[in-house]
Amino acid sequence: MTATVGAGTMRALAKVEAGPGVELIERQVPEPGPGEVLLRVDAASICGTDLHLFQWDEWAAENLVPPRILGHELAGTVVGIGPGVSRVREGDLVGVESHLFCWECAQCQRGEMHLCRDLRVIGVHVDGGFAEHVVIPEANAVESNGLDPAVVALQEPMGNAVHAAFAEPIEGRTVLVTGCGPIGLCAVGIARAAGAALVVATDTEPYRLDLARTMGADLALDASDPGTEARIMEATGGDGVEVVLEMSGSPRALDQALRVITRGGRISLLGIFNGAVPIELSESVIMQGLRLHGIFGRRIYDTWERTQALLRSGALDVTPIITHRLDLSEWPKAFELLASRHAGKVVLLP
Ligand SMILES: [Zn+2]
Ligand SMILES: [Zn+2]
Repeated sequence: MTATVGAGTMRALAKVEAGPGVELIERQVPEPGPGEVLLRVDAASICGTDLHLFQWDEWAAENLVPPRILGHELAGTVVGIGPGVSRVREGDLVGVESHLFCWECAQCQRGEMHLCRDLRVIGVHVDGGFAEHVVIPEANAVESNGLDPAVVALQEPMGNAVHAAFAEPIEGRTVLVTGCGPIGLCAVGIARAAGAALVVATDTEPYRLDLARTMGADLALDASDPGTEARIMEATGGDGVEVVLEMSGSPRALDQALRVITRGGRISLLGIFNGAVPIELSESVIMQGLRLHGIFGRRIYDTWERTQALLRSGALDVTPIITHRLDLSEWPKAFELLASRHAGKVVLLP
């Protein structure tokens, strides 16, 4: 079997040289090698990681070697198949697991591929999906036929929220989601769909709090309001919340969460903090019997199955989170929207 498409050129959004910015370039359409598939990209969403790469911060300079096509949250139709591909078929709409695993390290051998010691990321370490075509390993293609391509792309960040939410049981529990960016908004919807007894969301941006209400939050509160902690305690009958899904990476949000969590509660930590975070461990964590879970990536393939089950059952509609759909050529507007925080998920349609 060989690629049906492979000749010709394509448009792609790439980091051409070390430094801030990106460029829309022409590139040869890649060909799938053994175990790989060629996708026609139907939708690719922009994430905070892309903004870091765009702005070229310290992390970006350490991890990305230009030239590199960006984009790791994507949906595509299989249009070419490399030798040895057996599961995925031409014409399939697929979502993409963005992490590439070695399959050989101790973590991979234990079935913990999301913690692979040699983890690489599509759109950072290899060419990504802000392009008309992309080649990915068959193992990273998750069949998603019948779903809206923008929703298919959203499965990647949503998977992070699914992983965080289901680190322990959530049904019937009182839940606080701190931070209402796209992943936090997904977490609100997931908690609601999974039967949480109460879903509280906090953020400091009114636009995002409105989206949290749309996604099913019982209470969407301004984290900077001095009355917010009292409102949360009141809503839980003075007991505090049983589950915290920390999606903000803000030390103040974590601090607040520690004050409104019940004794014996659990916190899933997904937001990435900038540097060290001082927390009072003895009285606030140890003597409260709290459990802190560090959540990274998506469990392969358990998280993907749960994510699809939520979407396909109709229990969860994530389309309100997708606030903008733009052509690839409109990338300047897309990055501007993301930086403004006045957007949910911004999706590029190559
Ligand atoms: Zn992302
Ligand atoms: Zn590995």
